[in-house]
Amino acid sequence: MVLVEAPFTYIMRNRCIWLFVFLALSTSGCVIKSTLSAISPITGLEVYPPGSLQNPITDSNITLSEALNKPAPLEFKERQRLVEVLYYSFDGKIHKGQLVIEERLVEDIKEVFSVALENKFPVNSVIPISHKRFFKGGSWNEDNQSMLANNTSAFNYRVVTGGNVLSKHAYGFAIDINPLQNPYIKGDIILPSKAVYDPSAPGTLTVDCVIVKTFKRLGWVWGGDWKSLKDYQHFEKVLE
Ligand SMILES: [Zn+2]
Repeated sequence: MVLVEAPFTYIMRNRCIWLFVFLALSTSGCVIKSTLSAISPITGLEVYPPGSLQNPITDSNITLSEALNKPAPLEFKERQRLVEVLYYSFDGKIHKGQLVIEERLVEDIKEVFSVALENKFPVNSVIPISHKRFFKGGSWNEDNQSMLANNTSAFNYRVVTGGNVLSKHAYGFAIDINPLQNPYIKGDIILPSKAVYDPSAPGTLTVDCVIVKTFKRLGWVWGGDWKSLKDYQHFEKVLE
């Protein structure tokens, strides 16, 4: 009987520990600063619940070469860097993702994501567009796939939407954030097609949003300020 009861007791004890951690985090209202953890009965080490600052949920964990997998001229690729970022997602948990951006914009990106985390501004996911999940049907359709997945991304060697010239994304000078909350709107065209721009919805970029203010303070231009079209998801900072 002891052999049967011991694992059961162990499982129940573990459940109680996690229940305690869950309740503590739920009532604290401030997961980010929490250092609450449980002690593993196996290793004796502290363990943190998934989705905490100390144990974020991984959305992307690829190498720089994988993140530059989509064909592009070498002189464009060699200026890109892979940045790891932490953010609240819409599930209220802290996630870890990656962004590909021009090397001189790395510090700006780190600052913006630090502000987003501090203010609990939700970001759905941050996964490079060269990630295999956006390569479907044997060809690159990554911009649409990424937008439909409400994914945030930066570097992408492509032309501008509805044109032939290279996009600022091709240089790693631009980032698109939460496309579903922040669509591209030009006349009747809305991208992604099912997106709705509702300034009161979480994760939406508005002129008063701390994310927009931080980007502007750092010298970036916001597509939500444009007149002939609106590209609410888009920020760019063009360097020489
Ligand atoms: Zn963009």
